[in-house]
Amino acid sequence: MVKLEWRLYEAGYCTHPERATRQGAPMRACVFPALVALLKHPTHGWILFDTGYSEHFLQATAAFPERLYRMVTPVHLSPQASLAAQLRRDGIAAEDIAWIVVSHLHGDHVGGLADFPKARVAVSRAAWDDLQARSRLGALRIGLLPTLMEQWKTAVPHWFEDRPAVELPPPFHAFDGGLDLFGDGSLLMVPLPGHAAGHVGALFDDGQGPVFLVADASWSSQAIRDNTPPPALVTGWLGSTTIYRDTLARLHDLQRTAPQVRLVPSHCPEWRPHAGRRT
Ligand SMILES: [Zn+2]
Repeated sequence: MVKLEWRLYEAGYCTHPERATRQGAPMRACVFPALVALLKHPTHGWILFDTGYSEHFLQATAAFPERLYRMVTPVHLSPQASLAAQLRRDGIAAEDIAWIVVSHLHGDHVGGLADFPKARVAVSRAAWDDLQARSRLGALRIGLLPTLMEQWKTAVPHWFEDRPAVELPPPFHAFDGGLDLFGDGSLLMVPLPGHAAGHVGALFDDGQGPVFLVADASWSSQAIRDNTPPPALVTGWLGSTTIYRDTLARLHDLQRTAPQVRLVPSHCPEWRPHAGRRT
């Protein structure tokens, strides 16, 4: 099987009460990094899984009503911290990014899309159709910022749903299969429903075993270990509480029965690249 190299970047962070992400957690404000994974496929090249915050996000939320987004979750992003700037420092130009795989369309995941105009974007058609059906305020209410997707109104994304469906091997059989992005089994998009329309995780092997990027199916590794969801108010506001909890329970079982699988939530403080943890 084709193995992928990978590493994590942090493209800004936000703060909000920890209890909004994990029932029973303290009310104190906590840092939630916007993590992005950079993957390298031996023939398809550099791939991003999400893009974090960016200058475009700050522009898109500078005025009302979009500014409400930043008031609910205060965002911190220095100019040097954007993903494009960090990649440049590591010798990777924006044009070198061949693909961007989008877990879902919340502003903190698509914020940097416009920094990589040459990349092909792969996204769930369900997420896309959901966004198109919403008004500006209806989208904003659930964390979607249509202006961040402007350029893709003319350049049609690549749909996950058009990719071959594959069954997942043990220990992943509790999930409903995957969509094989490159047709070689190297990068599978796995639906993780409940958080937002068309929300997916990405499953691959880096040579040391499976890595499962679970995006916002959980806000932290702690919540997966404890099977502790956010309050129903939060999950019901963004998506479906029942389905979210079912997905989280599957991840909890996976973590318990297959601890060798690395589960990486997009906003987990334990996975911050400078937290001393190595991928
Ligand atoms: Zn989200």
